[in-house]
Amino acid sequence: MTTIVWFRQDLRLDDHPALHAAVKRGEGIVPVYVWSPDDEGDWPAGAASRWWLHHSLQSLDASLRRCGSRLIVQSGRAVEVLARLVDTTGASTVFWSRRYEPAAVKVESKVEKMLGERGVKCQGFNASLLHDPDAIRTKTGGPYQVFTPFWKTLQDGLEVGRPLAAPKRLKSPAKWPDSQSADRLQLLPTLGWADAFSTVWTPGEAGAASRLKSFFASIQEYDEERDRPDHEGTSRLSAHLHFGEISPSRLWCAIIEHESARRHHGPSTGATSFLREVAWREFAQHLLHHFPNTPERPLRDAYGRFPWRRSSKDLKAWQRGMTGSPYVDAGMRQLWSTGWMHNRVRMMVASFLVKHLLLDWRHGAAWFWDTLVDADLANNTLGWQWCAGCGADAAPYFRVFNPITQGEKFDPDGLYVRQWVPELSRVPDKFLCRPWEAPPAVLREAGVRLGSTYPHPIVEHSEGRQRALAALASIKEKP
Ligand SMILES: Cc1cc2nc3c(=O)[nH]c(=O)nc-3n(C[C@H](O)[C@H](O)[C@H](O)COP(=O)(O)OP(=O)(O)OC[C@H]3O[C@@H](n4cnc5c(N)ncnc54)[C@H](O)[C@@H]3O)c2cc1C
Repeated sequence: MTTIVWFRQDLRLDDHPALHAAVKRGEGIVPVYVWSPDDEGDWPAGAASRWWLHHSLQSLDASLRRCGSRLIVQSGRAVEVLARLVDTTGASTVFWSRRYEPAAVKVESKVEKMLGERGVKCQGFNASLLHDPDAIRTKTGGPYQVFTPFWKTLQDGLEVGRPLAAPKRLKSPAKWPDSQSADRLQLLPTLGWADAFSTVWTPGEAGAASRLKSFFASIQEYDEERDRPDHEGTSRLSAHLHFGEISPSRLWCAIIEHESARRHHGPSTGATSFLREVAWREFAQHLLHHFPNTPERPLRDAYGRFPWRRSSKDLKAWQRGMTGSPYVDAGMRQLWSTGWMHNRVRMMVASFLVKHLLLDWRHGAAWFWDTLVDADLANNTLGWQWCAGCGADAAPYFRVFNPITQGEKFDPDGLYVRQWVPELSRVPDKFLCRPWEAPPAVLREAGVRLGSTYPHPIVEHSEGRQRALAALASIKEKP
């Protein structure tokens, strides 16, 4: 007899409840990944995510082979591929890890129905969150819309499950089904755009473990360092978490164990602050689960009539890091070059798009979706709706980040801007985030010609701020 383990966003062997349950059954195991972009509704994986997935699938296959097994890769609608596999392998059981995005939930219920009709035992396990999104409820039984009480409930009331060890050997089925090689899925971008990604990232379970290990060295300083894009003060685990190369329970328990080995009185401020960010990830999934329309629609109805501008020219300048606002441009170029951007700068560039440029947050969310290696429907939706002021627990719309003072505060020596906007590298600190204020001789000395080697700002801060506030007032005035 055979058990199929359907891998999804859980590309690891460690702390994998579905795989663990399959091993316990004692049957031959067929590990399967189904490439099914048509199952993802309006959100098939973007280009940077596909790059990551390609490498992560190869890494998972290598790990499975070390256990005497292999990864079967097939493409098509999951319900059809799994039906075929059940028929060809004669599987008695199918296990998987649940996903909580609206389209993925629909696919899962179709799969359950199909397997039920065939008399095949099946079960989905929670492997991507500390707690199922339905496990956390307000006192009145509804979903949370404010983070602090959500975090308090998570800290006070709920135990994080003990992570399960990775299996050492996996029993093979009597006959292996056909498999496609990861190359045949053509996930890698054809142009050289993502070539440099592999100098920054190591997709796969081992890459995740090694990131975590190196993060331990700086976790105590996380509270101060996490706001500094010019330093490596954050874990950079987001893509590993998204693809399930490390489980949140393993991460949570590793942090607690690491801290208790060093201290006697619970986790340091740095570690607590880090766990709080991991809880934001849980909060994002909780919101998406309870408000499944939020990737497309603002949570606050009034924003449905917000007077967004349309300007493909401004949108393109933003996407390419050519707005003339150096701190914003640095972030957008970091994203383009590495598939990742520091959280502090994500907030800045998002605010700049929706407030200074008055362009719809959904354009920004779509661009991030395509270019982030950690693109995640729940986190991205939360992040954009938060910055636009239209989501749960959002930044008030009237708080408009100033790209000059933000840059000067969080990149005080200009290292970040100079790295990503090298044409300004010789501009003195004083003018780095506001080169248009520099005297002509200073710009000449720095080799900068505004409008030629670097753009003039497409919008001036106070003008952008006034325009954004007027737009907000217009939706408030209506009943
Ligand atoms: C506009 C916008 C869009 C975003 N889009 C995404 C996205 O598509 N995918 C994504 O993973 N994160 C997104 N974020 C959240 C955050 O920027 C990233 O999770 C973080 O920068 C990843 O870097 P890290 O792993 O070093 O984070 P760390 O600071 O080391 O945090 C640890 C983990 O906590 C989680 N986390 C941290 N901050 C947040 C947050 N604000 N919301 C939810 N989870 C968080 C992530 O899983 C992260 O890996 C977005 C934020 C904004 C403002």
